[in-house]
Amino acid sequence: MTLQLQSDVSLKPYNTFGVDVRARLFAEARTDEDVREALAYSAQNRIDLLVLGGGSNLLLTGDVDALVLRMASRGIRIVHEDCDRAIVEAEAGEPWHPFVQDMLAQGLAGLENLSLIPGTVGAAPMQNIGAYGVEIKDVFHSLVAMDRLNGELREFSLQDCAFGYRDSVFKHQTGRWMILRVRFALTFAARLHLDYGPVRQRLEEQGIKDPTPVHVSKAICAIRSEKLPDPAVLGNAGSFFKNPLVPADVAARIKQAHPGLVTYPQPDGQVKLAAGWLIEQAGWKGFREGDAGVHALQSLVLVNYGSASGHDLLNLAQRIQADVLERFGVTLEMEPNLY
Ligand code: FAD
Ligand code: NAP
Repeated sequence: MTLQLQSDVSLKPYNTFGVDVRARLFAEARTDEDVREALAYSAQNRIDLLVLGGGSNLLLTGDVDALVLRMASRGIRIVHEDCDRAIVEAEAGEPWHPFVQDMLAQGLAGLENLSLIPGTVGAAPMQNIGAYGVEIKDVFHSLVAMDRLNGELREFSLQDCAFGYRDSVFKHQTGRWMILRVRFALTFAARLHLDYGPVRQRLEEQGIKDPTPVHVSKAICAIRSEKLPDPAVLGNAGSFFKNPLVPADVAARIKQAHPGLVTYPQPDGQVKLAAGWLIEQAGWKGFREGDAGVHALQSLVLVNYGSASGHDLLNLAQRIQADVLERFGVTLEMEPNLY
């Protein structure tokens, strides 16, 4: 067995909330064989298996009575190239933002709006990560995952992944698919998406008239750094709630009572409500109780000021959910995965 198993390991360094819980067993998987060994160990010893990437989209609510397998496989390769585009394959354990920077350095466009998102390549398809009007489904080619039920490898096409708003087939079959590597279709000529939030304005302020993907990436990194807490300084898992999608008549009804409601009509007729606005209006922005709080600049982000437990953070999230439901009749869905 090449897999190095450790017992009773603190997961504090492995989750961006910095919650201090312990794993019964912990190992790092660098190869497909390691993942296969972990699966076999889990089956033979009747111990659950929890796959971890960068731990930036989960909330650990207690000690984890499982084998926690951190994906640490590395490798990036171009598997196909023609004059317009390249298909790039990256191993699950590759850190996301350095991968984006690597692609930009090679003159490959498509990932620039997804700059500075924490985590790993392997976790990116889980919730179809998105930012500034781009989601990975827009540049996704295919992926390879191991089926936990029988250890077999399976290829997933774009269609197979059933990507939706912060959603995919993998979110609905929790723990079944261990994503080993992901392929992206990136282009040499850029089709930039600038009309979202302050991206275009930021580029104009910098006097950039003909932006490249690298300019866009830098602008987005700057905007994000000003607004979002750095998990290395203040524990958080990014947006704690998804922006709710509601039917147009429901949005209109809420807007009648609350004219300031921030709404984004969707192509399918639904309306996206800015969850951050709802939480802020309910008075939670900057709230703190013990070490659990709501970030002062972005009310979608729950923060750990030091020693908040997963329960403290979950309790706060549930209070916010109940309050928003009572005031606006809107159910906020939590985004991070709870364990
Ligand atoms: P983890 O938190 O380790 O895991 C998340 C889930 O995926 C868990 O259920 C885990 O079991 C599963 N998983 C992990 N790896 C694998 C694998 N290889 N195979 C199968 N299952 C796996 N998200 C966005 O969409 N857009 C943003 O702009 C964004 N900004 C963020 C900003 C900050 C400051 C932070 C802290 C988070 C942000 N996030 C954002 C959330 C998060 O970074 C992403 O969802 C990221 O993709 C999670 O990657 P991870 O490796 O940390 O996953
Ligand atoms: P923002 O720009 O202040 O916008 C607030 C909200 O309004 C966002 O949630 C965004 O929805 C929505 N929005 C803004 N412009 C829009 C448009 N033109 N069309 C449709 N919806 C629009 O948001 P922010 O907090 O600074 O985040 C910027 C981007 O990074 C967003 O895309 C956000 O999703 C992403 N982000 C995600 C996380 C996470 O953990 N999931 C954390 C930080 C940032 P969307 O969220 O649907 O884009």
